Amino acid sequence: MALSDFPRYPLLFGPSPVHPLQRLSDHLGGARIWAKREDCNSGLAFGGNKTRKLEYLVPDALDQGATHLVSIGGVQSNHTRQVAAVAAKLGLKARLVQESWVDWPDSVNDRVGNILLSRIMGAQVELVDAAFGIGFKESWENALEQIRADGGVPYPIPAGASDHRLGGLGFANWAYEVQRQEQELGVFFDTVIVCSVTGSTQAGMIAGFAGQDRPRRLLGIDASAKIDQTRAQVEKIARNTAELIELGRDLRDDEITVLDGWAGDYYGIPVASTLDAIRLTGSLEGVIIDPVYEGKSMAALIDLARTGEIAPDSNVLYAHLGGQPAINAYSALFKVG
Ligand SMILES: *Cc1c(COP(=O)(O)O)cnc(C)c1O
Repeated sequence: MALSDFPRYPLLFGPSPVHPLQRLSDHLGGARIWAKREDCNSGLAFGGNKTRKLEYLVPDALDQGATHLVSIGGVQSNHTRQVAAVAAKLGLKARLVQESWVDWPDSVNDRVGNILLSRIMGAQVELVDAAFGIGFKESWENALEQIRADGGVPYPIPAGASDHRLGGLGFANWAYEVQRQEQELGVFFDTVIVCSVTGSTQAGMIAGFAGQDRPRRLLGIDASAKIDQTRAQVEKIARNTAELIELGRDLRDDEITVLDGWAGDYYGIPVASTLDAIRLTGSLEGVIIDPVYEGKSMAALIDLARTGEIAPDSNVLYAHLGGQPAINAYSALFKVG
């Protein structure tokens, strides 16, 4: 089946905006940097990359007669918030299992930002504290079982909607959207920067770009601090997605690039380069990025542009994947400016 043959339930405003980051480009003094804005791609609870992925999962959920979307993530998961929004939009229930993925001591971490939004949208949110010995797997199974016992039909969506047969399609489609926008704008992005954690965002892009004639460099930036795991996951999903959309050839290894060096030691914990990137992007462009994901991929972009690793005559597309609600749980880091 070609990509265009897969059913897609529209959740986005349309193509996400692409615009130049002029002052940031001038500041770095080389490559021209543009952003494509998944952070404002939808009217559903601020949108984000998971909303785009869910466009391809929703028809499957509806086909199965789902009554509940069930998903998992950390306490400040952007993904579960987007699942809650999509469930609300469809008139379904959302059941969210939220585990302590990040050891972050903010006193309102479990009350503000993403989890607050999920609660407002009527999701049933279950906080699982692994430290109290309630297995995460067990909470997940319990959630599914309980829904079934009550006569409902759960539709399980894995973390980040990644380890799912259809998880890569949203960003394969994004790759073609980029191609159309390039034609309209009269620009070619030779380098694309994207943050990678659960993998299907970058993996989808790989599969989509692989079907286009003009080669470009797609650099995934690991934000999980588990580079081997991220690489393996991206590769697996990219190959599956390429096969699913009938690319007609194997992906080459050089099409699958995930870089480490900007994640720090832990997922969800920003380091100095993350905070510098957040302040720089905010103060030069009025563009807000988060400390968990986009701050780390932007830190990479800044370093790669400064060192000339990204050539001065490059046109770079920075995929802004969303994630700003989580910043409310990180206020202490910005208390003194
Ligand atoms: C989930 C997420 C990512 C990572 O995307 P994956 O598909 O999980 O690799 C990056 N940025 C934001 C804001 C996210 O919510």
